[in-house]
Amino acid sequence: MDAINTRADCAVADGPGDVVSIQEIVLRNRHSLESIEETRGNTATHPPNYFINGQQRQSTANSANLNYPPTLRLRSLQPDQPRTLPNGASTSCSAAVKSVACRIKYLSKISLLKRNPSGVIDGADPYSNIRDACAGRKVKRSSYTCSQGKAPGGTTCLDLKVLQYIYYLGTTSRYRVQVNAIAGACHSRRSKHYAGKAVDLQLFGSKATRRAQEKAFRAACSKRGGWSHGGTHVHCQIV
Ligand SMILES: [Zn+2]
Repeated sequence: MDAINTRADCAVADGPGDVVSIQEIVLRNRHSLESIEETRGNTATHPPNYFINGQQRQSTANSANLNYPPTLRLRSLQPDQPRTLPNGASTSCSAAVKSVACRIKYLSKISLLKRNPSGVIDGADPYSNIRDACAGRKVKRSSYTCSQGKAPGGTTCLDLKVLQYIYYLGTTSRYRVQVNAIAGACHSRRSKHYAGKAVDLQLFGSKATRRAQEKAFRAACSKRGGWSHGGTHVHCQIV
């Protein structure tokens, strides 16, 4: 399985910073952050790295934000926090994702588990993922450990292609469609699930029926440019 570093997408891009001189480190121990900035002069475009309790921190903010306590400022730059406009509208995910998620939500042919296959209930189950995506929001990932690794927590947008795949199965397949996991549950460390780009689908019936269902679901995944595996369920990822 090829991998994705889900955190890489979320990394905060730090701007270039000047390295603070030794003299300034000494000054830093004597004066407040604000007074240091005054001695440095214009820092509006390239705020410096700075030290707190001997640890170097790299500033990512403009000079106005330097008035905030560093911990507060870093907290405000945490990835995966849904950005909310003053009127409460979310700017997180695309309108196309929202649209297909709503179609899946209201398509009775598709069953969406309301808990993770592990039994954990954490709001990252397929039903919650689709409900949140239909509302235009990022969806929750789980944050528990399993034999394969540890789910990272936080949130992600669901990917349009994997949603279109689920909807396609729900509208065309002769087999029952039950979604076991999308962004939630615990998987291998770099699983595409955590980026909202994979889905797990339940297999039903006799051994022969399950085999036929697996074949059909995997073929549909391949047809859409995805990669899949079978077994106890069908996993399809489309990147
Ligand atoms: Zn999977």
